[in-house]
Amino acid sequence: MAAIEMKNIVKEYGDGFKAVNDISIDVDDGELMILVGPSGCGKSTLLRMIVGLEDITSGDMVIGGERVNEKAPRDRNLAMVFQNYALYPHLSVYENIAFPLRLAKVHSEQDIDQKVKEAAETLELTEHLQRKPGNLSGGQRQRVAMGRAIVREARAFLFDEPLSNLDAKLRGQMRTEIARLQRRMGVTTVYVTHDQTEAMTLGDRVAVLRRGYLQQCAEPRELYEQPVNLFVAGFIGSPPMNFLPAQVRGSQVELPFVTVEIPASVAEKVQGRGLLLAGIRPEYFEDASLVDPAKRSRRSTFNATVDVVEWLGNEQYAYIPYEAPSEVEKELAALEEELDSEALRTQLVVSLDAASRIRRGERAEIFVDPSRMHLFDPATGDNLTLSPSGSHVAS
Ligand code: ATP
Repeated sequence: MAAIEMKNIVKEYGDGFKAVNDISIDVDDGELMILVGPSGCGKSTLLRMIVGLEDITSGDMVIGGERVNEKAPRDRNLAMVFQNYALYPHLSVYENIAFPLRLAKVHSEQDIDQKVKEAAETLELTEHLQRKPGNLSGGQRQRVAMGRAIVREARAFLFDEPLSNLDAKLRGQMRTEIARLQRRMGVTTVYVTHDQTEAMTLGDRVAVLRRGYLQQCAEPRELYEQPVNLFVAGFIGSPPMNFLPAQVRGSQVELPFVTVEIPASVAEKVQGRGLLLAGIRPEYFEDASLVDPAKRSRRSTFNATVDVVEWLGNEQYAYIPYEAPSEVEKELAALEEELDSEALRTQLVVSLDAASRIRRGERAEIFVDPSRMHLFDPATGDNLTLSPSGSHVAS
């Protein structure tokens, strides 16, 4: 296994378009790194540069301590697992897994047999070895594709949206399976997806890309709790973070529904900034009747009419219609377009405990926890509530 270091990587296509701009990411030996971002952010291009399928315009690609910019894909000893599995339909599972070993022409028949059987054992494919790919489920085919990567003893696995062909249930199962196998084998892995849930549940760390720039590279919890900018805050989390115009006055922040008190340390940082955008995740709200009275102050509760309630068994989402004021309409419209979301300007999404009795159409008292609120500069998108050490922003 090997670490992968991407140092100031740039990809400029022939037409002058820069798909990847000065990206530096270190993937540790044995780590599972996710590259995530909306369509066109450059994640596949970056993966293809690691494998050697795309030339690197500038920067250094270092694998296992060795610069590989000029090395052909076959000399990098990496295993790419594609979206469509790329299995040979006329070959059995056994022969599909054995294929890269036969191609290398250096392994004895006995050696091949041992490696294939070991891989099949790890992947729980032993009883399917004589079947053809056409007679396997999507999940089993995925495992055969991984088997081919395992027997090669590649220095790293690279996945490009491997689960996007599968239905939601199987996708969930395969996600767990990939995570389990990856950890059991301790193989360095780079995994590309556009799905933030997949990114957050699978990755040791997640690199969020936007328009060819790295936005933030961090563990899932840090991305969620300390997003460096508006884009990461809106992209990570489902339902997404709510964004509201916020006017800071001393240690108070005026929001459309309520005025809240913020910690002095935060207030100090954002004084005199004019209009900001407050970021409040759905779970920072609660049905006020369920909150400990000691935590409730007049300033942190407000009344609003709920127009839809989605009951999910373990929690509920309440939707509160709301019209963004014109001062922040432009910023939110731009973010909506990029996140492919239509709801940032029109409603607040509030997560309620399953015990809440708030019903649709009712006027309800809602609690908000201001200590967990983020404040963003609408012009730059920067999160002003983070300590300087928390920032990794590139653009
Ligand atoms: P998706 O999830 O849609 O595959 P992605 O994030 O993987 O998107 P890339 O495939 O890496 O995006 O493409 C990044 C950008 O580079 C896109 O805007 C794409 O149009 C552009 N691009 C890709 N190949 C070329 C090329 N050969 N010439 C010019 N531009 C290209």
